Amino acid sequence: MLNQGALVCTECKNEYELNEKIWRCKCGGLLNIDFKYKFSTKAITDRPRSIWRYREALPIFDDKNIVTLDEGFTPLLPVDINGKPVLMKQDQLMPTGSFKDRGASVLISKVKELGIKQVIIDSSGNAGSAVAAYCNRAHVKCDVYAPAHTSPAKLTQIINLGAQLIKIDGSREDTAQAALVAAKNSHYASHYWNPFFMHGTKTFAFEVWEQLGWDVPDTIILPVGNGTILLGAHIGFSELYHQDLIRKTPKIIAVQSAGCAPLVKAFKNNLPEIPEVPKSTTIAEGIAINRPVRGKQIINAVKQTDGDFIEVTDDEIETALKEISSKGFCIEPTAAATVAGITKYLAQASNEENIVAAFTGHGAKTPKKLFEFLGQ
Ligand SMILES: *Cc1c(COP(=O)(O)O)cnc(C)c1O
Ligand SMILES: [Zn+2]
Repeated sequence: MLNQGALVCTECKNEYELNEKIWRCKCGGLLNIDFKYKFSTKAITDRPRSIWRYREALPIFDDKNIVTLDEGFTPLLPVDINGKPVLMKQDQLMPTGSFKDRGASVLISKVKELGIKQVIIDSSGNAGSAVAAYCNRAHVKCDVYAPAHTSPAKLTQIINLGAQLIKIDGSREDTAQAALVAAKNSHYASHYWNPFFMHGTKTFAFEVWEQLGWDVPDTIILPVGNGTILLGAHIGFSELYHQDLIRKTPKIIAVQSAGCAPLVKAFKNNLPEIPEVPKSTTIAEGIAINRPVRGKQIINAVKQTDGDFIEVTDDEIETALKEISSKGFCIEPTAAATVAGITKYLAQASNEENIVAAFTGHGAKTPKKLFEFLGQ
């Protein structure tokens, strides 16, 4: 099943082979993957229930390089939000507790395929533990840079997985800068720079399509920091559209925390560049990204689908967390930001609109915060 494709620079349009050991263009630009394949629904349904049932869509040449924990094919469950059933992908049930396993499985499979023995990543926690888990399984050495103020359970998870944890006293942005410097001497397995990650998160779209009986909803609502689940979803739906497997791509609604909302500002004011926002203060640590590297790409994806951006306050996130916890779902505050966004969106949506969203991270990631917000 040899798949043809290329790494393509978003700036200078230079192309590289998929098997080059690079994570950005020589000009410094972001890379995307241009990749052609054809799905057969029969082949998909014959395979085990993980992201790898969409094998032809995943840009790994040799099956022996696949690094998997049977991630994916999470339930798509109706959850009552303000009286309306919204279909929620249960991505908090992934092996390491967040949707990041989708991207990490494909990214580290590629690392293995390239024969790379050591990687580094920077993360607000969940991407770090996902990449650490797959590196552990592939026997690849992994250095994780994370802000010192990250939820302790996430840091513990990273250490337990055998990764080297480098705590940075500073913001998420300072952490990214430290990792970029270190990446000069190592392979940067960044979930937002490295395009293979987005070709794992795109399986979100394929699963929704399959679980809806090979159809898509009107609207998708997703949280956005660096945009890896949003861009993945957009890539996935676009690939389905270009194969004539769906008749439209869903509208994408992106949710940011008001404490750190550079993309909302850029979108609402039609700014040509993503503005600098002050250091973030929000309980939604997983989307507290001051300078999203793929910011313009995220805004273009949302615009292409006729979508929108919504911002939610910490108070609204806390209310959403309480509400959703009372229904039996154990999620972290970052994931509750999506629920707060859905609540706002529903106030203006038409009643017939079909909506799919996701629980992106498990509550076990942030036990202290849950105790603080939910204790009595
Ligand atoms: C990483 C993460 C997000 C946001 O993903 P981005 O790729 O940064 O947009 C949302 N929720 C949780 C739980 C996360 O871990
Ligand atoms: Zn370039």
